Amino acid sequence: MTTNCIFCKIISGEIPSQKIYSDELVTAFRDLHPLAPTHILIVPNKHLASVNDVEPEDEAILGRLFTAARKLAAQEAVDQNGFRLIVNSGPHAGQEVFHLHLHLLGGQKMRYPMG
Ligand code: 5GP
Ligand code: ZN
Repeated sequence: MTTNCIFCKIISGEIPSQKIYSDELVTAFRDLHPLAPTHILIVPNKHLASVNDVEPEDEAILGRLFTAARKLAAQEAVDQNGFRLIVNSGPHAGQEVFHLHLHLLGGQKMRYPMG
């Protein structure tokens, strides 16, 4: 746990959240300011600040982010109509919380293009 990291505090339960999934590698909870009917954040339990910090030894965690995303998309019933997964990394991407997270957005047709 990294002091002063909001998502580490959510994982530990120090800060309340609408947690919807957790296992030994990842935790998922609803975004405080949802941008779509389904907006879930899936985060590694281990503090990794951004994609710049991922190492080969983290590959099991990174894989789990995706298998959890698949499970949650089905649970939220957005798997068939489709959904968007987003990872912002660094200032140009607008990353605000420096604890790696996968946004799962669904329940409406997503706007495009990005960038
Ligand atoms: P980023 O811009 O870093 O990719 O996204 C950070 C996300 O975390 C934002 O969508 C923001 O709404 C969400 N967020 C920030 N603080 C909290 C919090 O305390 N609780 C929850 N559930 N979401 C948060
Ligand atoms: Zn953290």
